[in-house]
Amino acid sequence: MDRSVSLPQLPGLSRPAARPDGPKEKCGVIGVWGHPSSVHLSYLGLYAQQHRGQESAGIAVSDGKELHAHLGMGLVSDVFDRRSLLGLQEHGPVGAIGHNRYSTAGGSLDCNTQPLVETTLDGQVGLAHNGNLINAQALRHLFAERGHLFHTTSDTEVIIHLLASPEQRDTSDPLAATLRRLMGAYSLVLLFPDRIEACRDPWGWRPLVLGELEHEGRAYPVVASETVALDVMGARIVREVEPGEIVTLSDKGVESRTFAPPADRLAQCVFEHVYFASPASNVFGQNVQTARETMGEVLAKEAPVEADWVMPMPDSGRSAANGYARASGIPYREAIVPNRYVGRTFIKPTQDQREAAVRLKLNVVHEIVEGKRLVVVDDSIVRGTTTRVKMQQLRAAGAKEIHLRISSPPIQHPCYFGVDFATKTQLIAGDKSVEQIREFLGVDSLHFLSLGGLLSVMDRPDRDFCTACFSGDYRLDIDHPTTEQVLFKEQTSMF
Ligand code: SF4
Repeated sequence: MDRSVSLPQLPGLSRPAARPDGPKEKCGVIGVWGHPSSVHLSYLGLYAQQHRGQESAGIAVSDGKELHAHLGMGLVSDVFDRRSLLGLQEHGPVGAIGHNRYSTAGGSLDCNTQPLVETTLDGQVGLAHNGNLINAQALRHLFAERGHLFHTTSDTEVIIHLLASPEQRDTSDPLAATLRRLMGAYSLVLLFPDRIEACRDPWGWRPLVLGELEHEGRAYPVVASETVALDVMGARIVREVEPGEIVTLSDKGVESRTFAPPADRLAQCVFEHVYFASPASNVFGQNVQTARETMGEVLAKEAPVEADWVMPMPDSGRSAANGYARASGIPYREAIVPNRYVGRTFIKPTQDQREAAVRLKLNVVHEIVEGKRLVVVDDSIVRGTTTRVKMQQLRAAGAKEIHLRISSPPIQHPCYFGVDFATKTQLIAGDKSVEQIREFLGVDSLHFLSLGGLLSVMDRPDRDFCTACFSGDYRLDIDHPTTEQVLFKEQTSMF
């Protein structure tokens, strides 16, 4: 079933936007409590997680009584300079949270930068969100009918409206009550004047890790989307935040409580391992680089071919190409060279100009390619238009044969859980067979890693991974995030 057209829409809220290039993830989060350099550490953590979102960045700090924030559009390096960091540091912060954003709901707008900082009857709260809520629109309708005004168009703001509403405030644990009313993917970091609360949805869609930073004989707690951020901050990895868990970071140390039992079947995003996460990170308890290399090894066994060189599409195919070369015994060469000076601002309004931009961004080493049989390895194909231009470049450079190998299955279905895969009609595998895709790309052979092959690489049980973009097996009923399901019913019955 094509599920790309059936969710109700609200003005100002949109489905994941189509992107001309590869898939984009919605966001990375950071939290540091008590450390005298919490601002600088958050800044380092955001840099380390830049790959999780390049549209905007922000840091919110608590001085123990009030929250202060600096946010902006662009890369971490665009948003922060010495002055803005010193401005935050001057508040004498006792804690800080940070956010890298890529919009998958709500659009790339200044108002949607995070952390969101709002004032409720109980005081200020800052919020940073990685993921995507599938019942945000229903919740927003409910609050709009009650006369609530929204400052953003993102799905994240409904979390603050829930937290501030009487139904939650009257409970013994308003945050837990709020979280039980959310459906979808959320790894959250919330900043209050006296603490940070870090939470992960009961399905475990997105990663969230707890760490500890030693400084002058004391240990300070930190949280981050990825372990690479902890590494960069100099922190030790303690453990993952568990699905359905809230971890509190405060002057009392680290405390934990469960707001909902973990889902019977977790839904950890397998695409974190295919593409999103840093190769240096351990995600869902497993190193990403070695997992990607093993995907390449399995791919070589599933789809062998005689060739002269194995080469990656840089940079995304590099790890799997290494694995493919190792398993096949075919020498590894790099002949597609990225031009690192083509920035995001390169203007490319027409298709011809976009294709020229791809040629500019990736240059081919003719001396390696000419007259050779190539195995080209990439991690995934979304629309296929960029891949086609790259294959044309290889042909033009004299490649004798091109055998394209993809270290994940065809992406046939949209993602509603924090990745901006386009609607089904915009996915090349949405309505084309592998043979039709091969013809479109102009290659001699094309093979995708099987879903079983992909899952065989994962250390955790198959049933605990979301594979919906490949399989269509959505863990939640995305067509019916209805009010009766989601509004003010305890959701534990659904798990
Ligand atoms: S649909 Fe795909 S990208 Fe989205 S959460 Fe599931 S595995 Fe990840």
